[in-house]
Amino acid sequence: MHYPENWDLETFFKGGSESTEFQTFLNETGKEQDQLEADLKGTLTEDELVNGLVRVQEIAVRAQHAGGFVSCLTAQNVKDKQALLLQGQLLELSAKQQNLVASLDQMLAELDENAFAQLIARLELEDVTFNLNEKRQKAKDKLSPEEEKLASGLAIDGYHAWGNFYNQAVGRMEIPFEEDGETKLLSAGQLQNRMNSSDRSVREKAFKVNEEAWQKEADVFSQTLNHLAGFRLKLYEARGWTNVLKEPLSYNRMQEQTLNAMWDTITANKPALYKFMEKKAELIGVDKLSFHDVTAPLPVENDQKISYQEACELIIKHFRTFSPELADFTEGALRDGWIEAEDRPGKRPGGFCTGFPLKKQSRIFMTYDGSMANVATLAHELGHAYHTYCLKEKQPFARQYAMNVAETASTFAETIVADALVEEATDKELKLSLLENKISRALAFFMNIHARFLFETRFYEARKTKSLSVNELNALMEEAQREAYGEQLSAYSPTFWASKLHFHITGVPFYNFPYTFGYLFSLGIYKQAAESEGSFEQAYISLLEDTASMTVEELAQKHLQADLTDSSFWQQAIDVVLKDVEEFVRLSEQ
Ligand SMILES: [Zn+2]
Repeated sequence: MHYPENWDLETFFKGGSESTEFQTFLNETGKEQDQLEADLKGTLTEDELVNGLVRVQEIAVRAQHAGGFVSCLTAQNVKDKQALLLQGQLLELSAKQQNLVASLDQMLAELDENAFAQLIARLELEDVTFNLNEKRQKAKDKLSPEEEKLASGLAIDGYHAWGNFYNQAVGRMEIPFEEDGETKLLSAGQLQNRMNSSDRSVREKAFKVNEEAWQKEADVFSQTLNHLAGFRLKLYEARGWTNVLKEPLSYNRMQEQTLNAMWDTITANKPALYKFMEKKAELIGVDKLSFHDVTAPLPVENDQKISYQEACELIIKHFRTFSPELADFTEGALRDGWIEAEDRPGKRPGGFCTGFPLKKQSRIFMTYDGSMANVATLAHELGHAYHTYCLKEKQPFARQYAMNVAETASTFAETIVADALVEEATDKELKLSLLENKISRALAFFMNIHARFLFETRFYEARKTKSLSVNELNALMEEAQREAYGEQLSAYSPTFWASKLHFHITGVPFYNFPYTFGYLFSLGIYKQAAESEGSFEQAYISLLEDTASMTVEELAQKHLQADLTDSSFWQQAIDVVLKDVEEFVRLSEQ
């Protein structure tokens, strides 16, 4: 079997970005939106409302299908100007879609209890009762529709603008950096890459330059952060919300008890991870790791490469030991041109997976260069495609899973392959570097993200009464890092509140703990799968099918018989990492 390295987009629309077939599809979708908008005017009967809810989902599927096509076009060739124009058309389509959904949400909120109960009992909406209940509850938690409309209107200039301003200001940063005997002007992103270099002297210098550069601009960024947080808090106050975690928790469909159980279990296990940090420091040749050392790669001499064909076969083989269905699915995806993997210029960096719901297919984008990390990325993206595949028969509202479960299937797939690579490595140095890679990733979730969470919760609490100065922000950040890293580092990054984009994202609040949740949730499932004998596959598939149809506590209870508010689930997930730490320590002492 030879697996193609280029994807097939012709299946969806012929002719790439010049496709007339696609243009017609876009126009028709726009017309359907206009028609629905007209049909939603005035007071609706129950039948009309049900019909509206069904149609808005059908249009959402078309919009997603179109969105997938445009993402693929813009990624495969960054110079495709026509594809960029299509992106503009698509933005209009999704703005209209949001308005339609908002009108329907409002109608749901306005129904009396009886009418609402009758509505969700309708067969056409059987799949989405959870989602409709959720929409109604969310609307009830907010202000009146008029007030919310005013707030979101004001947010354009008073809230999102601060986020945009942050991005622009960061985009303009040019940081002088001495390299190869000359002074180069680097962007913030380029400097960040230097901090991940496998050469410690480069990272050390980049770290120092980075801290100075952000400190220089800190006055400006303390304004953006204080103001966007102030806006958010004022709105929460008006809605009567006192807990700053209310919005992120409800968005992620989880309880605060679950969040606390997760962090408490992580904290209790940190001392076992310090051993890894000590060993890594030894291998690098320093007394204590610095902030930039924790996730930096070890310098490796023999850089083993795996061809794309070998990678495909290896992934299928190891997937099969866990789940024959996942393996069959993967074989089909690899064979039928779902993946764009070729290493050629003109492609966008990074990787993603996007769905084409009208054909029940997905497409994966990446640039495969033969590194071990690439094999893991391919497995990761195939996991995303499998998740989409498991949800394919659900109604669109019931496919909208939250950020904290978005990485369940991908992390699961990646872990299978990463574990197999460690298992199969015969060279000690390679084995150490593969293990190091896995553990570092865990450390980012347990320590770096924990520091972000501690900082953000404390910052928002303090911001309720006043704006914080640069010095206060720096101190708060360093304190959070010292706590999250258990005082194990030789240097911290006090300006991290300014340099990390995530604190300035206005679309979603608290862009941190869902990452850690998702990672550990997936490891917990992986542990159960590894221990069960053959009975696991169906439970796993059913769990993925339900990811957007219940809370995470219900999801774990129903499919894993686990209580997420209790530490035992989290402990068995962390045990997977601790096993790697033991192996790493043992090998490095040999
Ligand atoms: Zn992912």
